[in-house]
Amino acid sequence: MRATRALIHLDNFIHNLKEIRKFSSDKKMCVAVKANAYGHGAVECARAAVAFGADFLAVATVEEGIELRENGITAPLLMLSLCDPLEIDDAVKNRITPLVFDSEYINLFDLSCSKFGVTDFAVHLAVDSGMGRIGCYAHEAGDVAQCIKSSKNLFLQGMCTHLCVSDEVSPESIQFTKKQKEIFLAAIENVRSRGIDPGICHCSNSAAALNLDDFHMDMVRPGIVCYGYYPGDLTRKYFEEKGVSIDLRPVMTLETKVSCIKSFCADQSVGYGRTWKACKNTRIAVLPIGYADGMLRSFSAAGIKVSIKGKQYPVRGRICMDQCMIDIGNDSNVSRWDTAVIFGDPRYGASITADDVANSIGTISYEITSIITKRVERVYLKS
Ligand SMILES: *Cc1c(COP(=O)(O)O)cnc(C)c1O
Repeated sequence: MRATRALIHLDNFIHNLKEIRKFSSDKKMCVAVKANAYGHGAVECARAAVAFGADFLAVATVEEGIELRENGITAPLLMLSLCDPLEIDDAVKNRITPLVFDSEYINLFDLSCSKFGVTDFAVHLAVDSGMGRIGCYAHEAGDVAQCIKSSKNLFLQGMCTHLCVSDEVSPESIQFTKKQKEIFLAAIENVRSRGIDPGICHCSNSAAALNLDDFHMDMVRPGIVCYGYYPGDLTRKYFEEKGVSIDLRPVMTLETKVSCIKSFCADQSVGYGRTWKACKNTRIAVLPIGYADGMLRSFSAAGIKVSIKGKQYPVRGRICMDQCMIDIGNDSNVSRWDTAVIFGDPRYGASITADDVANSIGTISYEITSIITKRVERVYLKS
């Protein structure tokens, strides 16, 4: 096996799901496993989530849904993005539940169901309460529900909306999130007033699942917290200050090994563009991980350090496609083939998390784990 791999701590994943359940108690849970489970491996995470008791799994695309079905996952799948008309037959055949909100899309699904003799196809009605993405406006929800009801083969299994600033703590954002809930409740009422049961109502992403009890409704829909990261402003410190006990543990450790060590004299340079030069004699270790693995070029300028046996060493020069170089000084701590950890679980030698990496380059943990590419093997650890 290649030295560069992502350890996936399924014990931490289950621990995080238990933490979420402490907040959402008896509510249904839809675990987001879209984008290859935020880079952690969709099939294994989906299996673990179902074994834990997740009621739904959320995917973004038909292909992601098919991957789960082909691996024997029978749990209800919610598809959070719209698919292409050419993918609808596959969505129907694989019982991938779409979010719908207009008659054109509803009719395409209905027709496809007729083609395959499917007469009880679940759909969820999406409401745009302020995200400005998919969904109908609240005043249209009754008509859309009516359209679903009048279809031949579809039934309204649930209603949802998506919050866009629930992870922010400014008064303005808190106000906006409250308004989104009111809009969603109005949409639900609009559907009820037609004598139609709205079914399972849900709007809580990770931030609302942990921080806004009164948004849980019938189901919570967490993603990032399942993988061990705090959403937005709702950091570990934020919860500590609030006196709320919540302990999230990183599910991925990205590691590699030292592939060689070389001595450097003062003035020798490292890598493309010769952007770094040794100012004194030192030793440089080469790691077989690069931007094509998800170790982005921007990590280098951001001063991200790699951990070897509990000590941190800076990346030098530009990160290449498949390799990068670190400065290990004249420290005898490091030997060839030693494990070098980029980020992850401290039990496995990490000094930083994907959140620290994200903060250094001005992005969010979501992006750091989900860009770990396919050639990095995921190694699943149960304990
Ligand atoms: C991705 C996504 C979620 C999960 O979001 P997190 O912030 O990761 O909890 C929930 N709902 C929808 C519609 C999403 O697209």
